[in-house]
Amino acid sequence: MKRMEDKVCIVTGSGRGIGRTIALKFAKEGGRVVIWDVDINSAEKTSNDCKNLGVDSMWQKVNVTDRKEIQKNVAEIKEKFGRIDILVNNAGITRDALLNQMEEKMWDTVIDVNLKGTFNCTQFVVPVMEEKGQGSIVNIASVVGIYGNMGQTNYAASKAGIIGMTKSWAKEFARNGIRVNAVAPGFIKTPMTEKVPEKVISYMVKRTSLRRMGEVEEVANAVVFLSSDEASFITGHILQVDGGLTL
Ligand code: NAP
Repeated sequence: MKRMEDKVCIVTGSGRGIGRTIALKFAKEGGRVVIWDVDINSAEKTSNDCKNLGVDSMWQKVNVTDRKEIQKNVAEIKEKFGRIDILVNNAGITRDALLNQMEEKMWDTVIDVNLKGTFNCTQFVVPVMEEKGQGSIVNIASVVGIYGNMGQTNYAASKAGIIGMTKSWAKEFARNGIRVNAVAPGFIKTPMTEKVPEKVISYMVKRTSLRRMGEVEEVANAVVFLSSDEASFITGHILQVDGGLTL
């Protein structure tokens, strides 16, 4: 039996990057995968690639900041599949600047997508999980939310907030059979880190014990493990996938 056999899994921001790889890994493990992204072309592509792996999949245009859109699409998933087993809150953005140059808009946008987006999606999905008395939520945090990073006041605050929500929800939803964990990646090769200057990347690589950036598959492996029944006694855990960046 595959680890995700027949489980209905939503992955936010799964058109590309880490989210796309998580979605494909769920599909390889037999899950029914729901792709949420603001970009409809990439969402459709990920969903088709999941179907090509032999599983049922659907995609929906969902901006995690739009509560009405989330509510409507959760209702559609419930109608189609009758349940939601797994939610991965992956959608996230950066708007980096030193504090003295950080515009209010940069703060608001990052908090709105990363922190409030995670709150929004979880708030609408949990009642559906509760109906079946089971579920697993994995939030994508970052090592920056634990240790901080220059030029990322907004991003660090959003990711630290996600860690706080993860632990609070682990306590709050345990009685309903729902586990909540987070994965905190270090520096991973994705379109997001393509924007990071080469000298910053080489500095981070030097500080990483394993002396390289991580691959998206290495984050997806951790997410699938925490989502699966193999992690049935794990909740409220923040799993760092960072090659020893913080040792
Ligand atoms: P990415 O390549 O930029 O992919 C993010 C995806 O989320 C994109 O498909 C993007 O759509 C989508 N998205 C953005 N805003 C959204 C919104 N409001 N609603 C729904 N979808 C939205 O980023 P990534 O590197 O894969 O990062 C994924 C997660 O891992 C993020 O939470 C990030 O903070 C976290 N993380 C990444 C790293 C790293 O090194 N890459 C390290 C630590 C943590 P568009 O293509 O339209 O923008």
